[in-house]
Amino acid sequence: MDHQPPPPAATGGSPSTRTGYWLSEHLPDGTDRHWSILARQRTARESDRAQVSAAIEAVTWYRGGAKVAFSPGALLNEIISKVTTPPIAFGISDLALELPEAGLSEHDRARYDSNPALLDPDLFETTSVVALAFREGRTVFCMYYLDEGVHARPVALDMRDLDPGPERSVGCAARLHSICQGRYITEGRDTRPCACDCGCRNRHQQATA
Ligand SMILES: [Zn+2]
Ligand SMILES: [Zn+2]
Repeated sequence: MDHQPPPPAATGGSPSTRTGYWLSEHLPDGTDRHWSILARQRTARESDRAQVSAAIEAVTWYRGGAKVAFSPGALLNEIISKVTTPPIAFGISDLALELPEAGLSEHDRARYDSNPALLDPDLFETTSVVALAFREGRTVFCMYYLDEGVHARPVALDMRDLDPGPERSVGCAARLHSICQGRYITEGRDTRPCACDCGCRNRHQQATA
């Protein structure tokens, strides 16, 4: 991971930068989104955060161990090999992002801040978002990274509670519906159909038909 010089003090409504995040938002669905200092230069503008948020919305979640054929999969495997807790899911966004390069000069940064159209087109970089989801108790953590080729730059962390209600799989309760196999295991080790209305039961029937 990159180590950047410490950023200037956060302003207005921001958590302490000692947490590693410079801005926090409370989303309408109850998710708290924290923006990483490590990608602050790339997400300082609201329009850039909007792009990243759209890419986060476009993430497809896969169960741990699922095979993905394309290049972000290699980057994710690299990250997964370095984390101690196995993720419950990993995610790949199909939405491309155009963000300013990491490490713009002060001069270029000032031009960009005054008007993105002033920045030399060569200083934009196409990237996308890859993600890992973890669960700790009833809290779900989704960590999002910008795919910078050989590096994965932490960009945002979402934290939310598992939706209450016992009749659903962890995947559906975590709102990672695509990883649900249409059933869940009760505390008594019974297997029951998942009660979520996302279509997971039908997906599972098709997969096993
Ligand atoms: Zn569901
Ligand atoms: Zn389900």
